[in-house]
Amino acid sequence: MSVSQIEFRNVSFRYQEDMPWVLKNVSFTIPENEWVAVIGHNGSGKSTIAKLMNGLLFPQEGEIMVDGQKVEAETVWGVRKKVGMVFQNPDNQFVGTTVRDDVAFGMENHGMPRPLMIERIQESLSAVGMSGYERQEPHRLSGGQKQRVAVASVLAVSPKYMILDEATAMLDPQGRKEILTTMLDVQEQRNLSLITITHDLHEVVQAERVLVMNEGEVWLEGTPREIFAKKEQLTEIGLDTPFVTKLADELKSAGVDLSREPLNHQELLEELW
Ligand code: ADP
Repeated sequence: MSVSQIEFRNVSFRYQEDMPWVLKNVSFTIPENEWVAVIGHNGSGKSTIAKLMNGLLFPQEGEIMVDGQKVEAETVWGVRKKVGMVFQNPDNQFVGTTVRDDVAFGMENHGMPRPLMIERIQESLSAVGMSGYERQEPHRLSGGQKQRVAVASVLAVSPKYMILDEATAMLDPQGRKEILTTMLDVQEQRNLSLITITHDLHEVVQAERVLVMNEGEVWLEGTPREIFAKKEQLTEIGLDTPFVTKLADELKSAGVDLSREPLNHQELLEELW
């Protein structure tokens, strides 16, 4: 039976033998077509999880399975084709002198035939709203555009899972909005799973499920609504809640009756009407 998911089975990891464990007995599953946001304070192990999923690191204990196959040295190229990754700094992701070369690079690494590459370049740039930019020099683009090209480079390889590790952290509000819109579009069009590691609570409320990491362990897991309802537990580990949920709390303590916890401005307005 074929399974379509990424699974962490009791994974423990440390960078060196004489160093403390960075992940401790971590288990979770990322199913097909789901958007999972991973949050947690700095150093809680989020990026390490991303690197383990992509086979950039291997665990000392436990197993990571991608579509039923264990991630290990022998399987790593197949895994990287399925699990794409977009990093934080848009400037560090460019290797080509044009947008087109850049999108082609990942496909060349995977040995894809040239006619297919040409087709995929068009398709993936169109999916991120960057058609027409093929001949542009990447360093002339805005931060949001650069990250959209980075997303296109990953999409071109046709992954089933895409990890965005703080991919919006260095962008201005406009760039963040562009990436968020792109991710929503891409997930809808491509049926892929998104794993977004982020500090941006706007991004978290868009996800279907949230994993909260704390000191190398999964501290909480649930839908954004479930997670942000656990305010004390989040505060305990120094995590914030979205502005709208704070506003809803103020309204409730002022006697306004809300039937559910709103997660965005639209939901809050609906509650008030
Ligand atoms: P996060 O993404 O949540 O900020 P990381 O996964 O980057 O957390 O880091 C988890 C822990 O591992 C931190 O204590 C960090 O200092 C340590 N760490 C990260 N990368 C390395 C590395 N290359 N070598 C040694 N320790 C590292």
